[in-house]
Amino acid sequence: MEERRLPEPKDFIREIIIEDIRQGKNQGRVATRFPPEPNGYLHIGHAKSICLNFGIAQEFGGTCNLRFDDTNPTKEEARYVEAIMEDVRWLGFDWGDRLYFASDYFDKLYEYAVELIKAGKAYVDSQSQEEIRLTRGTPTEPGVESPYRNRSVEENLELFEKMRKGEFDDGQCVLRAKIDMASPNLLMRDPVLYRIRKVPHHRTGTKWCIYPMYDFAHCLSDAIEGITHSICTLEFEVNRALYDWVLDNVSAPCHPRQIEFARLNLSYTVLSKRKLAQLVESGIVEGWDDPRMPTLAGLRRRGYTPESIREFCERIGVARRDSLVDLSLLEHCVREDLNRKAKRVMAVLRPLRVVVENFPPDRVEELLGPYHPDDPAMGTRPIPFCREILIERDDFLEDPPKGYHRLAPGREVRLRYGYFIKCVGVIKDPATGEIVELRCTYDPQTRSGFAPDGRKVKGTIHWVPERYSLEAEVRLYDRLFTVEDPSQEEDFLAFVNPDSLVVVKGARVEPSLSSASPGDHFQFERVGYFNLDPVEGKRGNLVFNRTVPLRDTWAKVASKVT
Ligand code: ATP
Ligand code: MG
Repeated sequence: MEERRLPEPKDFIREIIIEDIRQGKNQGRVATRFPPEPNGYLHIGHAKSICLNFGIAQEFGGTCNLRFDDTNPTKEEARYVEAIMEDVRWLGFDWGDRLYFASDYFDKLYEYAVELIKAGKAYVDSQSQEEIRLTRGTPTEPGVESPYRNRSVEENLELFEKMRKGEFDDGQCVLRAKIDMASPNLLMRDPVLYRIRKVPHHRTGTKWCIYPMYDFAHCLSDAIEGITHSICTLEFEVNRALYDWVLDNVSAPCHPRQIEFARLNLSYTVLSKRKLAQLVESGIVEGWDDPRMPTLAGLRRRGYTPESIREFCERIGVARRDSLVDLSLLEHCVREDLNRKAKRVMAVLRPLRVVVENFPPDRVEELLGPYHPDDPAMGTRPIPFCREILIERDDFLEDPPKGYHRLAPGREVRLRYGYFIKCVGVIKDPATGEIVELRCTYDPQTRSGFAPDGRKVKGTIHWVPERYSLEAEVRLYDRLFTVEDPSQEEDFLAFVNPDSLVVVKGARVEPSLSSASPGDHFQFERVGYFNLDPVEGKRGNLVFNRTVPLRDTWAKVASKVT
């Protein structure tokens, strides 16, 4: 037989899969799934799981299902289903026709439960939730068996049927597995399999009023779909015994293998849907897609690219031990990607007017700027130069310290893509003393960016032509929390960074940005990477989000030019 070429065993999960293939398990088939619960938006932690599950399927020539784990109607909504599908697609993965819902299996799951009852392995317990909790025992003490544990098969079948028909109220009874009330694993002490919830479901409507618990529905959904490797996060390690017990005790078509890996934790970030929902509900952020949110929708709106997130997931790898990944790694990945892709343009966030005294008032010269220093294919755009230009307020200091290479009285600097200018005067508001305008002269010989006499300038600053620039709003985003591990804090909301969003109104951008489309990425030279806000951009508003600052600001640009 021809030897099958297997991918790199780059982590322990791929090692397990390769070993399973070598041993001929599942006829060499590899089938994974990504099983989100539609009770919130996907976040960067889910991206790790998506890249892992879909990535493994791609590498091994297998399949990956998208399955909504929609067994709890009280928290789930159709709008989350839509958002999750959009996010998975945006990340670059395709489930083809393999879209499934655990709720589609409710009939089958019910039959499996009946099988357990018939085998004497499940019973209807009429104790209250509270009684069940109190009799579960502790890790050191066994639990107490329910007085209803030894109901007959017939009685259980009848009661379970009544549960399904809605003849009991919420909480009046549950279906429990009959396993072992003394098991050292508390999850094996007669876990609840079904409960009554008289709440309509986003897909099944009012057809059902009993809903299966995660531990019952998940393993059976995997088996129904023929999943071979059921990959989940470490907190489910204790659930594995129950996963296997259920599959071993019903006529499941196959027995998938559960493998646990360490979930992603990111510094200065919370990655729990419950906590993210709290941020939304409290109004601290503007929604699930607020650019400060670690959700895929938020990251996308912020200007993160799918490639940068996939690269990040590749770099963090997969391990069995929990760790806290530094947010700067994610920022590094997007910076690297945008460095390749983003057009360079000029924007002045806090403008200071400069009048070039020796430039004729009506003259306009078109300077040419390449969109990318290393990629000529990205083309160039004209930048009109005229007598009045705007520069960044902090690119001028009246009394500069040593090492300040930007503009100062009597100093000469280069304008990006243009001339040398020299400051010859400072105009202040007589009332406040605030600098309102600079007077400069330009050297007509320096249009190429160099002086024919070989004289050098130490700084290059960005600018926009006052007359032709466009007014824009710039939103400077920063990390959402002031502490490294906010999820460790009792009240994590108390550690929200008050400066996580600084709105700069009255910024001015170069005229080429009038043709920017919502979501387009730019490097505002010397300032950072930005995108035209997808939401505001669609309304025709020039609002830019800072995706990430440039690590190194003007020194880098200057060294490239000189
Ligand atoms: P959360 O803790 O954010 O509420 P969850 O586990 O409840 O997440 P699900 O929708 O059930 O959310 O998750 C779908 C899949 O994504 C699961 O397989 C889960 O293990 C995985 N997942 C969730 N959070 C992370 C994370 N931080 N890192 C890696 N995988 C994750
Ligand atoms: Mg979950």
